[in-house]
Amino acid sequence: MQVLTDFVLRHPASIAEAAELLAGPGARALAGGTDLIANMRHGLERPKMLVDLSAIAEMGALRWAGAGVTIGANVTIACLARDTRIIGELPAVAQAARSIAGPGHRSAATVGGNLCLDTRCVYYNQSEAWRRSNGYCLKRMGDVCHVAPQGKHCHAAYSGDLAPALLSLDAEVEIAMPRSTRRAPLAELYRDDGARHLNLERGEFVTAVHLPAPLPGTRMAYRKSRARGAIDFPLAGVAVALAASAGRIEFLRVALTGTNTRPLLVDGTREFSGQMIGGALLEKLGKLVQNQVSPMRTTVTASNYRRQVASALAQRLVKELGLAT
Ligand SMILES: Cc1cc2nc3c(=O)[nH]c(=O)nc-3n(C[C@H](O)[C@H](O)[C@H](O)COP(=O)(O)OP(=O)(O)OC[C@H]3O[C@@H](n4cnc5c(N)ncnc54)[C@H](O)[C@@H]3O)c2cc1C
Ligand code: SF4
Repeated sequence: MQVLTDFVLRHPASIAEAAELLAGPGARALAGGTDLIANMRHGLERPKMLVDLSAIAEMGALRWAGAGVTIGANVTIACLARDTRIIGELPAVAQAARSIAGPGHRSAATVGGNLCLDTRCVYYNQSEAWRRSNGYCLKRMGDVCHVAPQGKHCHAAYSGDLAPALLSLDAEVEIAMPRSTRRAPLAELYRDDGARHLNLERGEFVTAVHLPAPLPGTRMAYRKSRARGAIDFPLAGVAVALAASAGRIEFLRVALTGTNTRPLLVDGTREFSGQMIGGALLEKLGKLVQNQVSPMRTTVTASNYRRQVASALAQRLVKELGLAT
């Protein structure tokens, strides 16, 4: 850890003011700071201005409309994890929130910060001295990717826990821009590039997440595998939302984190509608997941292990949720 470089700290009180400030060169959004400040202390980020979003009241609320909910980007992970309606009606979201970092982090960390947290790599999330002695890397200050030295693509993994739970429930994000806002499917917030994984232009930031009412009969869950059981990022995290009747799938959505440069909504699960939950379906699902994840050597755990874990978690969740009475 190193001393923070100098920066100006601003506290806008409105979305419009924050968007103006963030449109300036070298400005970065600051929410709970549990990801950004650690990265600054590692010399990975050197913003000239931090725009603290915490004073923007309209970004701090959970608002229900029927069975759908709008979650302000400033809502803390702790608040999400203990909200009784979220626990009862959107359990996958509460499970994902509960699995993020430790209680101290969760009380400061926010939904917006979790969705936008930086991608991770064992060659990148290191001290300045460590990275310097290894010649830095493509993502920052170097010209070689130590994970895939032949290429010019950064494979750092997106490892936020909330995104897959929200993706499996068809979430949309509200994005503020200087002078306007836009709404987009959550999947469109992300790009397949570990060095620049967000589709946000200068001045743009997330103000809220919208979750529609789940389809009738939806069952859902989130589960992750991690190296340390107490506090750790997912090696692979899987969210499943499905409806089933008499052991037959009505609909199925599976989303993943920790395996790719962006959270992934598994493509092709529609073909399972109408099929019985059993060995054949689970085998097909396992293959579908394995074909779409692309874990690289960005963690201390072998890539193939993460591929197998993602597939096994998806199979287990579908079996448990689909056959629950
Ligand atoms: C020890 C430790 C363990 C952790 N374990 C986990 C874990 O298990 N799972 C997990 O998901 N995370 C984990 N984290 C990462 C982090 O704590 C969480 O992801 C947290 O939710 C980040 O939110 P924040 O509000 O603190 O974000 P910040 O650190 O404030 O910001 C994170 C990034 O998002 C940007 N940002 C913040 N808000 C917005 C916004 N509204 N719009 C656009 N950009 C924005 C910032 O500019 C920054 O780049 C861990 C962190 C630590 C230190
Ligand atoms: S994947 Fe490669 S370029 Fe990206 S952070 Fe890791 S070593 Fe650097």
